This record gives sequence, C-alpha cells and structure tokens, in this order.
Amino acid sequence: MRHKLVIGNWKMNGNRAGNTALLSGIVAGLNDAVGKPWADCAVCVPAPYLAQCQAELAGTPVAWGAQDVSVHESGAYTGEVSAAMLQDFGVTYVLCGHSERRAYHHESNALVAQKTVATLAAGMTPVVCVGESLEQREAGQTEDVICGQLQAVLDAIQPEDVAKIVLAYEPVWAIGTGMTATPQIAQDAHRFLRNCLAHKNAVAAANVQILYGGSMKPENAKELMAQPDIDGGLIGGAALKATDFLGIIQAV
Ligand code: PEP
Repeated sequence: MRHKLVIGNWKMNGNRAGNTALLSGIVAGLNDAVGKPWADCAVCVPAPYLAQCQAELAGTPVAWGAQDVSVHESGAYTGEVSAAMLQDFGVTYVLCGHSERRAYHHESNALVAQKTVATLAAGMTPVVCVGESLEQREAGQTEDVICGQLQAVLDAIQPEDVAKIVLAYEPVWAIGTGMTATPQIAQDAHRFLRNCLAHKNAVAAANVQILYGGSMKPENAKELMAQPDIDGGLIGGAALKATDFLGIIQAV
C-alpha cells in the first residue's frame, strides 16, 4: 500500500521571517495529525533556506528538499549546488526536471537523468517531474512526451533504483494556471507512467509514489488523490499558505 505524499514547491519565494511563520504554521497543524491517516509532507525551498529548514524542521514530521541539483560533484561551476552540499543540509527530496527548469534553463531529458543519478548517488530521493505542454496534449502527443522524459531517467538508473524515486506528473498547462487536470486525465497519465516504470522493474513500479502537480488546492485535492494511481501532490502556489497546504495534506 503506497502512503500518500504531499510536497510543496516554494519556487523562488520566501524570506527568513515569512518562512518561519509558514513552517511553524504547518508544523502546528500537523501536531493535530497524530493518529490520523494524513499524507507525509515535505517542502522544497530555495537553496539559501535549506539551513533554516534544517534548524526549524529537524524533529518535526515535515521533511525538506531542494528544487534543483548540479550534475557535477564539485569545482568550477559558479552558481551550482552539488548533491553533497544538499545532503550536508539534511535534504531528503530533490526536484529533478521541473518544467520551469526544462523551459527556462533548457534542461534536456538527458540532463534531468544525470541529475536523478547524482541525487540517488548522494542517498537522497529524486522527485522526477514529467509533463506535456498544451500544444503537445492537443496534438495527441502526451504519452510520447511523458514516456520520453521518464525513459531517459530509466535508461540511466539501475532496476533496483526504481524503488528509490518519486515521480511527479505535472502537465505544464496546469501549473500555476488554475487549470487543474480532471481526475480522469490525471489518473490516465499516472496509470500510463506506472506501466512505463513496470517495464524497468515491475515489483518496484507498484510501490513508486506518483504525485500529481498542477493547480492542486484543498478544494480539488480530495478527488484527485482518490484516484488509484495518484499518490499525492506536488504543490506550488497553495504551498505558500499553511492553511492551504495543510488542507491538501488532510485531503487524503
Ligand atoms: C509546481 O510548481 O510544481 C506546481 C504544481 O505549481 P502550482 O501548484 O502553482 O500549479
């Protein structure tokens, strides 16, 4: 039985005082969760705030993560942050291939695969993001696109590593637009992705958490998470308000 997981993606938002308020609001809300079947949760924050997360979240039920990682171990790569550095700050999850990085930083499927490998090698959990654009969906290319994005990662990892990844299906047209995928559209994509995973490792595929991302809110989370292959959410805008984020965590 896969446990539900809700991960907040703060993107390039936050400041020290605001982060403390948001994190303490989430932790306070989760203190009510003892004994309740709520989702596990984490926040993926801008790199400068990882130390703050480590200081304020250690010992709480909230894990923390990064939004990107370098494929290089160390050296002359100005501006990059290595997997070892993330590990040094207690990071659990690393987003790999978020659509904003694919779009604005031209990250290819091959680069996302390398980032996944670097994350795994450092003992952290990659959250591999895949998703089609509106044009691709309208052209009937959704399965080809998301399969291609996932296959590049599967080609780069060992069969036993399939069990160590989290997958996020994030249709680009639903991210930050308020246009949530219908539960059926999302379920179909999740089922398809699980079948793709199964070609690499059938046993592990049944246990991989596949999160939906794209304008998930407390109001639509319950129906989405009730789908058999939707194991939680990757949340952008709604992760910036403790009550909204908690509302989604409770929606299971
Ligand atoms: C995201 O950034 O991964 C995301 C899903 O954003 P939003 O929830 O705002 O659509």
